[in-house]
Amino acid sequence: MVKRNINFNPGPAAVPLDVLKIVQAELLDYQNSGMSILESSHRAKEYEAINDQAMALVRELLGLGPNYQVIFLGGGASLQFDMIPMNFVGEGRTAAYVDTGDFAARALKECQIVAKAHVAFSSKEEKYRRVPKASEVKYPEDVSYLHICSNNTIEGTQFKEFPDTGKVPLIADMSSEIMSRQLDFKKFSMIYAGAQKNLGVAGVTLVIIRDDFLATAKKGLPTLLTYKIHVDNKSLYNTPPVFGVYIMKLVMEWIKGNGGLAGIEKINIAKKNLLYGAIDAAPDFYKSPVEKDSRSMMNVTMRLPTEDMENKFISDAQKEGLIGLKGHRSVGGIRFSIYNAVSLEDIQKTVDFMAKFRKSA
Ligand SMILES: *Cc1c(COP(=O)(O)O)cnc(C)c1O
Repeated sequence: MVKRNINFNPGPAAVPLDVLKIVQAELLDYQNSGMSILESSHRAKEYEAINDQAMALVRELLGLGPNYQVIFLGGGASLQFDMIPMNFVGEGRTAAYVDTGDFAARALKECQIVAKAHVAFSSKEEKYRRVPKASEVKYPEDVSYLHICSNNTIEGTQFKEFPDTGKVPLIADMSSEIMSRQLDFKKFSMIYAGAQKNLGVAGVTLVIIRDDFLATAKKGLPTLLTYKIHVDNKSLYNTPPVFGVYIMKLVMEWIKGNGGLAGIEKINIAKKNLLYGAIDAAPDFYKSPVEKDSRSMMNVTMRLPTEDMENKFISDAQKEGLIGLKGHRSVGGIRFSIYNAVSLEDIQKTVDFMAKFRKSA
């Protein structure tokens, strides 16, 4: 039995052990093909089956109709920050952005390089302690789209209700929460997520676009930056991130085996209740820096009375096999990234450690 840490890394992050075991078992000879999937052509029938199955699983798990296109791209979620305004902000038009954290602000900044952007809400002055109520999000009615980051990975906040944008297309960066809870995905004209948080490993980004929105895309962009090229070629225009897609497929099969998004959500709710419960039970010692209504189910941030104590918490935790707890360098503190692959049992061990640490401090 290999020794495995409880992995709270924010991304790349924990991958379900069952998935890693399948990868290990299949690595040298993929399904009697006589070679590894790492060595086979992306045009081979083995990979084509993986590609098709992965696309079908995305549709099935999110409950998407045939009017949504699913593609797998390289370049990280960050490339989407550029491709979205390039493709979807028409000549002389403006896009609207909700600024709720570091990644949301980066998306906004990239839009401003190629197009005009309207800030529909910002909690920057409040140190990104919260996401907006739907009624606080304001923008001109003729914007090309409204962009939000549904879960703010660094700050630990998450949308519970989404602005009702009517005719304005709604786009969400769901990198750090995709497939962790049930949502009405049909509200969104576009969803994207880097895989290295909840869907597997680095190198592939899941992109979902509704047909009516795709039809509004600009023409004349460089080929590889054109969504329609990837859609028309089923993500096989050039060599896709094959290993990442293969692992994403296995992770989605694992999610399905856990009861789909309904089953996973139930576990995630139990996890976050246990962890926030432990924080709230010791208000003189552990403090959540974000507003209660905005608390994330995936990235749980926490402060201790002093930075020295935070450092000791991190190093003591590490000795017990709890790793990846250092908050992002821009905000400090502690962050538990409790993505799908982190189990309820892992969280139980963590709150036991928290109680012990507090007593000894
Ligand atoms: C991690 C993350 C990104 C950046 O992803 P890259 O793959 O590094 O480009 C963007 N948005 C959110 C919400 C993230 O959590």
